[in-house]
Order: sequence, then structure tokens, then C-alpha cells
Amino acid sequence: MLEARGLNAWYGPAQALFDVAFDVGANEVVALLGRNGAGKSTTLKSLIGLAPRATGVLRFDGADILGAPPFAIAQRGLAYAPEDRRIFDDLTVLENLDVGRRDDGPGPAWTVDRLFDLFPNLAERRRLRGGRLSGGEKQMLVIARALMGRPRLLLLDEPSEGVAPLIVERMAAMIATLKREGLSVLLCEQNMRFARAAADRVLILESGAVRFSGRFADLDADPAIARRLLAV
Ligand code: ATP
Repeated sequence: MLEARGLNAWYGPAQALFDVAFDVGANEVVALLGRNGAGKSTTLKSLIGLAPRATGVLRFDGADILGAPPFAIAQRGLAYAPEDRRIFDDLTVLENLDVGRRDDGPGPAWTVDRLFDLFPNLAERRRLRGGRLSGGEKQMLVIARALMGRPRLLLLDEPSEGVAPLIVERMAAMIATLKREGLSVLLCEQNMRFARAAADRVLILESGAVRFSGRFADLDADPAIARRLLAV
């Protein structure tokens, strides 16, 4: 479904990604791990057309998307839930969801009610303004709003950061539901436990390059790799 080959990215003169290559298959959840500054967010931004400068090959369902404008990439079915959890503080939960609505997206059609089944906390707060939500609720709203665009591949940037453990557990269940609905997910994380609960496969970045790609079982077979590449 998604294919990255020889992906490089820069912020001004500073190169942040070096020859990054990976795939995300249909109906697959892939975790992208790495320490702070390893290049996880830059990888996601490159996929969605938000990196300042990137070269290489990025294909989504066979179509070349590198350098395409973000709205055109979104139309193909890629959605991005950024780390900064930016929602409209003055709009209610329902109004925030409406902002993300797209009736012609290629992925599963989510109604507001189905999203509220997935995120019960948001259901209770549907008429509350975004600014009054907790950090974890804002994160859920960002994800729910991304789903309103009916994506086929969801890019999640550190959704568990600063979120209570119970909500993180719910997020793992939510990702399992998305998979059952036929979506693919690329999950950037620092929380290894959550990544393990949610993902089928793992990629680890260090200094902007892929240093490990495999199953969690492969990672467990050589604990020195995780010690070296992750803060565990
Ligand atoms: P974090 O968990 O801290 O977000 P990350 O793995 O997502 O880490 P990136 O944010 O992709 O890492 O950062 C990769 C590299 O690019 C780092 O060296 C970082 O300092 C640099 N970088 C990121 N954003 C910018 C920016 N806007 N301008 C300049 N350099 C940046």
C-alpha cells in the first residue's frame, strides 16, 4: 500500500532523514520507534507532504506522492494525526469533527455515532468546547477528526504521549478496531508497551536512518538492539 525508498529530508541545510526505506501493507499496523530526534515525525511529515524538502520515492497504491500537495495526498486516503493535538478550542467536539468530514474519502465511512462508540469519552463531551478537553481527549479528537476524512492509512504521531495509562490501553483497542475495519496504521511511538500491543511489525530509526525492521519477536531475540536504539 505505502512504499518508501531512498527517502531523504532536510530542514534548511540540515539533513534529517537518510535513505529511509519501508513498506506498510494493506490492513497492517506498523510501529515506527526511535528516541527523541530520531526522525519519526519527519518521516510522517514527508509522507503527507509537510516536510520542507524531501527526495526519494514515495508510492501510495502505486501512485507517486512525493512532493504532491498535502490536500492531494489526503484525497488519496492518507490521514495524519499530528503530535501537537491542534484542534479548534472554540468549537465543540461535534463541530471539530465536522471540520474533518469528507464524504468521498476512499476508506471506511465513519459516522459520528460510530466514532463515539470508538471514543466513549468524546461522546460524553460532544457539546463541550475543544479547549476544555484533557490532553488525552484532545488526542482522541484529533484521531477521530482524521477518521472523518475516511482514510485508508492513518499516520499517528506519538498518540500516547502525556496520556493516562487507561486511555493508552483504549487507544490500543481502538487501533485493533481500525484494523478490523480494513485500515492500515503507521504509529510513531516512544511507548514500547503500547507499540507492542498495537502493532504487527516494528521499524526503528536512529539519527534519521532505519536501523531495525522486523517483528517484535525478532527484536526480543536480541535485547541489545532495543537497548542501543531505544531508551529501554
Ligand atoms: P521527537 O519524538 O522529539 O518528535 P522525532 O523522532 O519525531 O523526535 P524529528 O522531529 O523527526 O524526530 O526530528 C529529526 C531531526 O530533525 C532532529 O535532529 C530535529 O532536531 C530536526 N528537526 C525537526 N524539526 C525541525 C525543524 N522544524 N527545524 C529544524 N530542524 C528540525
